[in-house]
Amino acid sequence: MNKFIFVTGGVCSSLGKGVAASSLGALLESRGLNVRMVKCDPYINVDAGTMSPYQHGEVYVTDDGAETDLDLGNYARFTSGPLSRANSITTGQVYESVIRKEREGRYLGRCVQVIPHITDEIKGRILAVAREDPDTDVVIIEIGGTVGDIESIPFLEAARQLIHESGKDNAISVHLTLIPEVAGGELKTKPTQHSVKAMQEQGIQPDVLICRAPVMLDEATRRKIALFTNMDPDAVFTSYDVDTTIYEIPIIFFEQKLDQVVLKKMGVESRHADITPWNFVMESFSSRKGKVFIAIVGKYMDLHDAYKSVYEALFHAGLACGVEVELVKIDSSRLEETENPDSILGHSGAEKGIDGILIPGGFGQRGINGMIKASAWARAHKVPYFGICLGMQIMVIDWGRNVLGWKDADSTEFNQDTKHPVVSLLADQVNVTDYGGTMRLGKSETVADAGTLLFEAYNEKRIFERHRHRYEFSNKYRAEMTQSGLHLTAFTGDGSLVECVEWPEHPWGLGVQFHPEFKSKPTGVSPLFRDFVAAARDRRAGTGL
Ligand code: GLN
Repeated sequence: MNKFIFVTGGVCSSLGKGVAASSLGALLESRGLNVRMVKCDPYINVDAGTMSPYQHGEVYVTDDGAETDLDLGNYARFTSGPLSRANSITTGQVYESVIRKEREGRYLGRCVQVIPHITDEIKGRILAVAREDPDTDVVIIEIGGTVGDIESIPFLEAARQLIHESGKDNAISVHLTLIPEVAGGELKTKPTQHSVKAMQEQGIQPDVLICRAPVMLDEATRRKIALFTNMDPDAVFTSYDVDTTIYEIPIIFFEQKLDQVVLKKMGVESRHADITPWNFVMESFSSRKGKVFIAIVGKYMDLHDAYKSVYEALFHAGLACGVEVELVKIDSSRLEETENPDSILGHSGAEKGIDGILIPGGFGQRGINGMIKASAWARAHKVPYFGICLGMQIMVIDWGRNVLGWKDADSTEFNQDTKHPVVSLLADQVNVTDYGGTMRLGKSETVADAGTLLFEAYNEKRIFERHRHRYEFSNKYRAEMTQSGLHLTAFTGDGSLVECVEWPEHPWGLGVQFHPEFKSKPTGVSPLFRDFVAAARDRRAGTGL
């Protein structure tokens, strides 16, 4: 019998619902349970793929090529169950499939309604995740948005029905709220009381409350909240602000016995917990020595979530390399405007300048020339450089323009009329007119040449990482690029596409067409991020090449 845990949020957004749900998942896994994570997103987009990173943060890509909400990235970093298209449910998908069934006549003449047809579709999708693997013990379903939002009502109703149908022992509700502090340092419980009332109006009595608060709530406050919300006092937990890292949250919840209370409510016998990996993460965190300064040169610099997995992977790499990675966020448009990139890249707050430059994925023309300047600068100054997807394409354009001397070298994404389209569309992309879900997406095989930085990082010839792009290194330039010294160090399994380029005579300059950031975890860093940060650390220490 599967158990279901619905995680909802109240009072306001951005309380860390994804991290709380993931941390609970991590703790249940630490007790040997087989956990699956699901995100329900009330927006009408079919997936996050067509949304601007400024609207919704990064698009997280799964092995099977789904373009999902960034919370799936949290799940991947905290838990180990597989994540695929099935683990991300949006209003858009639900309606799309109900409408398709209606057109096929599958509702047998009935009037198609939100209840039961939309709610049945939502429940069916959650149950499908539960049944996918017979060994699944628990499914944790996070419902996006805040209780009270119009668009999340069908998801809450589906949760209510599933809780009712499964029986109290088999499905519970975990509700996350905010305990704000007002002037004078007083903590206020009223918004939490109202938030639980809003849940009750939807027919759901939360079983567990997690209160986001500046400090650990005392016993009296927890009792007061419990009294006003029909809860057991031992089911009121605090997610207090940490000044360390989000990866401490599983430990904070463990110390409060969140997992034990959740298991008890679901009638699961508590097994021994092994949270060694999380303790190890925290030990690595506190034993880091010194800093490295990594410049991220991109176009969505004002919103941290826009490059969420990249920033997290750099943090993981810092843990692995024993250094604190300080992010220096540089809007590439700033570089575009300056004649002297040194004035930005050479200093940028770091005492001895920047130790490494990372250019992440991106779309569209804005800021491209600034990125090319950053690539040329890192190449000339022998500063470690890591290009991801667009960042690799930038290396190729820089090489075309500044080494081969083709001043108009470009990607056809930015200039369709260039005489040197060093990055261009694949034939099968030329006639694509729909933007949603039509890129090269998801997991595929890359074969690395021995003796390259890429091979050294993975210590493996066959590499499996995820893609999300439309444009490719143009094969007609392979010979000229290689003869002029650029190393093409990896290809797709069939050899047809270039997957990695590396700079010659450079301590660490590499670009990959795939996105290694999606698979990095605090407990298992992406090898490329690790080696990039190690190169930056060695440069700072003066021990680099
Ligand atoms: N815009 C480029 C492409 O579509 C790069 C995409 C990316 O960086 N994810 O190929």
